[in-house]
Amino acid sequence: MDLRFTPEEIAFRDEVRAFLGAALPEPIRRKMVEGRHLTKSDIVTWQRILNAKGWAVPHWPVEWGGTGWSPVQQYIFLDELQQAPAPPPLPFGVSMVGPVIIAFGSEAQKRRFLPRIANLDDWWCQGFSEPGAGSDLASLKTAAKREGDHYVVNGQKIWTTMAQHADWIFCLVRTDTQAKKQEGITFLLIDMKTPGITVRPIVTIDGGAEVNEVFFDDVRVPLENRVGAENKGWDYAKFLLGNERTGIARVALSKERIRRIRALAAVERADGRPILENERFREKLAALEVELKALEMTQLRVVAAERRRDRNTPDPYSSILKIKGAEIQQATTELMLEIAGPYALPYRADDATDGTNEPPIGPDWAATAAPTYFNWRKISIYGGSNEIQRNIIAKAILGL
Ligand SMILES: Cc1cc2nc3c(=O)[nH]c(=O)nc-3n(C[C@H](O)[C@H](O)[C@H](O)COP(=O)(O)OP(=O)(O)OC[C@H]3O[C@@H](n4cnc5c(N)ncnc54)[C@H](O)[C@@H]3O)c2cc1C
Repeated sequence: MDLRFTPEEIAFRDEVRAFLGAALPEPIRRKMVEGRHLTKSDIVTWQRILNAKGWAVPHWPVEWGGTGWSPVQQYIFLDELQQAPAPPPLPFGVSMVGPVIIAFGSEAQKRRFLPRIANLDDWWCQGFSEPGAGSDLASLKTAAKREGDHYVVNGQKIWTTMAQHADWIFCLVRTDTQAKKQEGITFLLIDMKTPGITVRPIVTIDGGAEVNEVFFDDVRVPLENRVGAENKGWDYAKFLLGNERTGIARVALSKERIRRIRALAAVERADGRPILENERFREKLAALEVELKALEMTQLRVVAAERRRDRNTPDPYSSILKIKGAEIQQATTELMLEIAGPYALPYRADDATDGTNEPPIGPDWAATAAPTYFNWRKISIYGGSNEIQRNIIAKAILGL
């Protein structure tokens, strides 16, 4: 297996790198480097810059705005985005509901929603998880009953990322309580402005407000907003969840973090010398770099194998990428904490408003070390927890 890029691929990488260098607004890049929360306007601005270039939805079919790039080109693009570092396009529209609408939606749904997803005119959120239905998603209870040409939806979703900004939510709802649990689920597109929807924020351990509870009380949804057939929603959900194969490891993002760790550790001092000269610290950093290199090789193998795969079935090896990628990303936040040392203690989340206006103690970058450390615990939970990924590896790869 040849894991090297061809001269054409290297030229493509240079083109992407030059574009990102010129087009990414500096204030957004700085927030990415410093691990600060992006605003809705940052994310919309960036996606519209990508869309104007024709690169907002590279993996979609060309007729709906895709680029026709090979899997390797898509990998290179993602890698360069992460290293820039630039915000990834909002996944809920671009990587989740968009591909589902393309594969299973009606022509009217495609024309209505797809161009608005690419340009982020509509902000989508994902209404799958419920209290009691996370890893065991098929146990979901939010009910949709047919009344004439509408469904009436009642129930609750939880952990809904950035629902506070959303114009639309795509939901799995139960339309048949008698059938086997996977067979009574329907996929609905719901306008967040519909009467009966309440969004309640959940404040996370880092003080951020990125997840929410969403309540549905007699919410009327037109039948035309159902994707595909009634009670077939589980098939579409499996397609959606299996869609993200590469990029999940966020190798390039970790590379960028390690570069920053190296630069900061060369300057910040402990016991009278730069932290980078401390043997224990160097050992940890080197071990992490080796792990990251191994992960990059695994990722390239998955990308190379993708050329020969049926693109509608997920590669179980991407579970390895998810687990190792999460562990490495979390390890980078631990090293950042180590460099920040006591300056990491009196942190405030960057979007917290406690009214004190106290300047941060210590260097500016240290203020986000602890919030980022806490926030990134989430990576081993969402998108299928690491334990669930291990189950997939056991069954699909090891045959246990
Ligand atoms: C930051 C964040 C953002 C999220 N955003 C969204 C979103 O936008 N939309 C959405 O729908 N959901 C979202 N989620 C929800 C996420 O998908 C669920 O948290 C996840 O599926 C786990 O479900 P749970 O929280 O109910 O935990 P549970 O499923 O109750 O799991 C609890 C623990 O038990 C373990 N476990 C469960 N089952 C097994 C098993 N069979 N074998 C071994 N171990 C097991 C899990 O690994 C975990 O450690 C988000 C979660 C987080 C943390």
